[in-house]
Amino acid sequence: MSRRGLVILHLDGVSHALLERAVAAGAMPFVAKLLAEEGYQAQPYRCGVPSTTPFAQAGILYGDSSNIPSYRWWDKELGAVIGFGAGGTFELVAERYFKGRRPLTTGGACIAALYRAGADDRFGPAYTEHHEQHPDRRVIVPFLTNPVVVYHWLRHAGRAGFGILARYAGARLARRRASQAYVFADLFHECVVHHLTRFATRQAMAEGLPVIYSCFYTFDEAAHAFGPGDEWARRILRYLDSTVRWVAQARLDNPDVRYELVVLSDHGQVECEPFNANDGRTLGELVAEWLPDQEVTEHRGGRHPASSEPPAGKVAITYSGGLAHVYFTDLPGRLELAEIERRFPSLVARVAGLDRVDCVLVKDGEVGRLLTGEKSFPLGPEAREFLSRLDEPGVLTAQLQRLNSFPNSGDLVVFGRYRDGRQVNFENQVGGHGSAGGEQLHPFLLTKREWGLDASAVRSAEGLYPVLNSLLERLASPGISSSG
Ligand SMILES: [Zn+2]
Repeated sequence: MSRRGLVILHLDGVSHALLERAVAAGAMPFVAKLLAEEGYQAQPYRCGVPSTTPFAQAGILYGDSSNIPSYRWWDKELGAVIGFGAGGTFELVAERYFKGRRPLTTGGACIAALYRAGADDRFGPAYTEHHEQHPDRRVIVPFLTNPVVVYHWLRHAGRAGFGILARYAGARLARRRASQAYVFADLFHECVVHHLTRFATRQAMAEGLPVIYSCFYTFDEAAHAFGPGDEWARRILRYLDSTVRWVAQARLDNPDVRYELVVLSDHGQVECEPFNANDGRTLGELVAEWLPDQEVTEHRGGRHPASSEPPAGKVAITYSGGLAHVYFTDLPGRLELAEIERRFPSLVARVAGLDRVDCVLVKDGEVGRLLTGEKSFPLGPEAREFLSRLDEPGVLTAQLQRLNSFPNSGDLVVFGRYRDGRQVNFENQVGGHGSAGGEQLHPFLLTKREWGLDASAVRSAEGLYPVLNSLLERLASPGISSSG
């Protein structure tokens, strides 16, 4: 009898609601077939806050998202920005993370993920955003020497490359917003990384690795560039669907291993408007104006020198989609509200009072505190009414308490305004995530119904780790039925 293995496909940035709409509209015919004919179900789950890949993927792969407050953050101990993507610096602090955890992909392949996760490292490429991709030669060489693969790659890459640039030019001509940096990231992901990732996935299946986790970012990049509801982003869903089919077709190719398939996402996306849309002013510029004796540096943004030399102190602001963290970098540890108020009177109220900000989260004794333009309340039952328009308030309160417990969260954690399905975003993106509100908090888990996996109680991506581990264990034990 053949062994059984598990392939997990990670479709970045696709919310449960979007998946359902795409299936209903006929844009994902293979996923529709899995649902209708192969006994699959798509369940929503909650990724938690921040709704960003590093946080969610750490949860899925290690069952531990502790102290990952964003896509990028300031590490006061190290005195540096930690981030992923081009020039990523997570490696500088990686040894502090995931201690004693057994990664989901131990002994398997973890392809294009942010973390190595105990996997066989022959299956690059490691993920970096934008252009600094260094795929492993052991994937590249067989990829480039397979004529069928290269033919399909060139055919698709040519069409996709032309299509993305045409879409971008069209958006510019029609004066629709398109985020240029993400247009090129999308181009690179769709035309290069996506192909290498799916090729490496089938290679890992041919080798019979017991568990394979493969990440596809091209929808997320396209949705950042053009918005999640844009026609181009919808076209990418069709393309992702063909990749799911391509991998699914290889399930029986290896006579020694019968693979089962799980498809999931890590967070969704919502439509965005930039923080500086009305007056051109960024959060960093405003903070620099309010604290003139501080040197303020925005990570993904500008640098604002202090009015005096040397500066009285330094402020670092890191932007990750709809979330910004503000750090007083020369003051150790995470400051209590009372200390912030004493040193920088009225700063928190000024930030919270901005019409493009929903609230500011700060450390304040045991439970923490939320401040809005009008109110200030402990992060407990008192916050329910305010939070209820973003998600189920009890769940969201617990998620924010967790974020507020991270030593690496900002002294101020600033949430861009979320209203009527649109979020104020600190980065220049047309679609975004990273914060709270709407579909960004509700990704999906696509599994066979008969496995009996329940995602309804998952309130953070960490909760998927035991669910997926239990499936792996069952597949590994002979005699337990896993497919019809
Ligand atoms: Zn993203």
